[in-house]
Amino acid sequence: MQSVNPASGEVIATYEDHTSEQVQAAIARAHEAFGSYRRTPFATRAGWMNAAADVLERRADELARLATREMGKTVEAARQEVLKCAVACRFYAEHAEGFLAPKTVQTEAQEAYVVHQPLGVVLAVMPWNFPYWQAFRFIAPTLMAGNTGLLKHASNVPGCALAIEDVLREAGFPEGVFTTLLIGSAGVEGVLKDDRVTAVSLTGSEGAGRAVSATAGGQLKPAVMELGGSDPFIVMPSADLDLAAKTAVTARTINNGQSCIAAKRFIVHADVYDAFTEAFIAGLKALKVGDPEADDTDVGPLATPQIREDIHRQLQDAVNKGARVRLGGEVPEGDGNYYPVTALDQLTPEMDVWLEETFGPVALIFRVGSLDEAIDLANATTFGLGSSAWTSDAAERRRFVEDLEAGSVFINAMVASDPRLPFGGIKNSGFGRELGEHGILQFVNIKTVSVG
Ligand code: NAP
Repeated sequence: MQSVNPASGEVIATYEDHTSEQVQAAIARAHEAFGSYRRTPFATRAGWMNAAADVLERRADELARLATREMGKTVEAARQEVLKCAVACRFYAEHAEGFLAPKTVQTEAQEAYVVHQPLGVVLAVMPWNFPYWQAFRFIAPTLMAGNTGLLKHASNVPGCALAIEDVLREAGFPEGVFTTLLIGSAGVEGVLKDDRVTAVSLTGSEGAGRAVSATAGGQLKPAVMELGGSDPFIVMPSADLDLAAKTAVTARTINNGQSCIAAKRFIVHADVYDAFTEAFIAGLKALKVGDPEADDTDVGPLATPQIREDIHRQLQDAVNKGARVRLGGEVPEGDGNYYPVTALDQLTPEMDVWLEETFGPVALIFRVGSLDEAIDLANATTFGLGSSAWTSDAAERRRFVEDLEAGSVFINAMVASDPRLPFGGIKNSGFGRELGEHGILQFVNIKTVSVG
């Protein structure tokens, strides 16, 4: 495995993949560790989890720079990501015991209650785009519930993958409670089919989700799938247009445009189309694309040459079929996977971007004539991850909450994950939930106890 700096194309480190013997040994250690870890008190686990938060905070700058060099996000964005991981660790350290407390139920029995017990070794298959956050939003609830974890991270972020293991070791978690496996995607099936591995959580593309959930299904093992998205960002005439346009700029370009919950389709009511798009495009144009290690950079390079190729192919397909380029659209000369901040409108259903996820800084802008049309277009996708709608009209707000087909609806705000709130999608965006109380219930045995 190689770490390649997306800003220069330079190979910055090379790692040996783990051999099958090493993988087997890691599974054995995780399984063995579960035997005692599951019986540790919540307070002990919380001590380690809070220590992990301390380590993350103390090492935030170093970890941030590592992520920037491996996948191209700006250093400040990476630093904020590391600090958010610490928040998630503290959140579950504080709340896991309450979320998993036994719950009494009144029945005809003398006593009936429900307890929540850990399942065992849980495998996480994670993407590179938020290399720390995606992992920690799995780690914090899963380990606090008493499970042990194995991480197969994306092949382009082996440095971050090993750093995560190191943070948890430094925090004091016992040997075997959390292990990083340096394996490619072809190695996932074998690990998941191992009898000692009880469940899987995958964050990634639809294709990876289909492959891994099929294996999990064949093994009758529980799975959480956090997959792609093509989130709508709907702007109605009563919206605060300045705030909507400003937020739209961030919502599209966050993480250099490579976020599952980035707003990808801007659906704008005809009455405010010109005013909104003018402000939106002016905001996009003002962003500085450049070296992710420089302080004044807003948008760094895409993580791999393949991602740049994919997004440019989508753009060319749309342009060939009649889309109008309002901004950007030209691949720059020189090193690095840079792509300009781009905006397209005059889009039609035969274009690939109509249905595909755009994983880069390319905004798709649509004009609609009514609330119904906005909702129909927002739902005209196979994805259903997040959605954002801008209106000050209470009746419109109710319609958005009721009718948008998505795992979340944010009104007058951009979609964001928050440790306190459940996160996940419907349709081809996946199933199951991470974060919040719902997230920690995914990998526990909800055991019924009834005393006659
Ligand atoms: P990806 O190619 O699907 O990779 C994600 C992970 O899955 C990597 O560890 C990858 O390993 C592994 N993988 C890929 N194909 C596999 C297969 N057939 N069997 C087993 N494992 C497989 O996705 P990505 O390009 O890294 O990430 C971008 C995608 O993730 C986007 O679609 C984005 O929307 C989605 N995403 C979703 C969420 C969410 O919460 N819903 C959050 C972030 C990202 P290798 O690297 O070794 O191939």
